Amino acid sequence: MTSAWDALIGQDNVVAELAHAVADPAAMTHAWLITGPPGSGRSTAAVAFAAALQCPDQGCGVCSICSAALAGSHPDVDLVVSETLSYGVDDARDLILRAAVVPADAPWHIVVIEDADRLTESAVNVLLKVLEEPPLHLVWLLCAPSPEDVLPTIRSRTRGVHLRTPSTAEVAQALSARHGVDAAMAAFAARSSQGHIGRARALATDAEARRRRQEVLRLPASLRDLSSCFAAAEELLAMATEDASSLTNGLDMTEEESLMRAYGAGAEGVTKTRMDKIAKAALKDLRKVQASRRKRAVRDQLDRALVDLLTYFRDVLVLQMGAEVALVNDEMRTQLLQEASMSSPSETGRRLDAIERCRLAVQANGSLPLVLESMLVEVKDPLVRVR
Ligand SMILES: [Zn+2]
Repeated sequence: MTSAWDALIGQDNVVAELAHAVADPAAMTHAWLITGPPGSGRSTAAVAFAAALQCPDQGCGVCSICSAALAGSHPDVDLVVSETLSYGVDDARDLILRAAVVPADAPWHIVVIEDADRLTESAVNVLLKVLEEPPLHLVWLLCAPSPEDVLPTIRSRTRGVHLRTPSTAEVAQALSARHGVDAAMAAFAARSSQGHIGRARALATDAEARRRRQEVLRLPASLRDLSSCFAAAEELLAMATEDASSLTNGLDMTEEESLMRAYGAGAEGVTKTRMDKIAKAALKDLRKVQASRRKRAVRDQLDRALVDLLTYFRDVLVLQMGAEVALVNDEMRTQLLQEASMSSPSETGRRLDAIERCRLAVQANGSLPLVLESMLVEVKDPLVRVR
């Protein structure tokens, strides 16, 4: 790595603007809104910017300050990740306390909020004053998918930079250069991930992620009647739940152990009954946060599967229209051709629309079995719209 910005892929304009702000105090702003589609590298950009701001060489990428900031362990770069569905007033108050820390040995105290779109209106109201008139040492870096995803009060008080979706070629090249992935695998992963860098890396380097994707892509051909739609919905939900648990289970256990230790578990003279009694309320709060995090993880995993399904029907549409575009799932060309010959472009359009609506419903907290079932019934028979 030769500079703090190296991890960003295909974002030259944004890097130029942020690097300029680092180099020229007159171009610096205290509150930024970094937006870009999922997987384009919003938090990577924020962390690189933070490293460049703290580094005496404006982001050399190699000094101990850059390394700590890039690894998330710099004491004056606060990374805030919401593991629940939203930030409330208490979270906002906690943020203000953190933001008040005066940096001991760094030019700035930087607070990175990775999903500012999850700040509730009441949380934003608590934050407004400190966003508007931050103390001199403080920099806010807020990240969100698009400016429209944050409240207008945040938009008007921050300076926006927007990341683009990197091209398939840029993603493939980065996979080869950084992870030593061979050219064919890099091209496949870049196409399948549709510009989502983290997803591309997973597909290129993890056989299990590729196997899961195959399972999802097999579903459309299995939809013969209503009961197979219900079975497919159940399977999608089961896969998402399993993947989500493998992400959150370890974390849940570590948190519970450290909570119990904080309450004196294992200390001499502390009986289990007494422990359970004094830790009860704290444990209940923790479990609430964990349940909400698990729910969100299931929805995130489902969204990933839905994007895979979208690529399947986009390919079908490409074949039906005879467009000169590379297929995302070129390895399934025979099956895709068959699917294309059995339906019309307008039916494919309705299928794509059903999947897009399902994605929104999943994000909007809809009942998962219901929204998945109605989506799959529509995919099976796009002329019948299920209510
Ligand atoms: Zn450095």
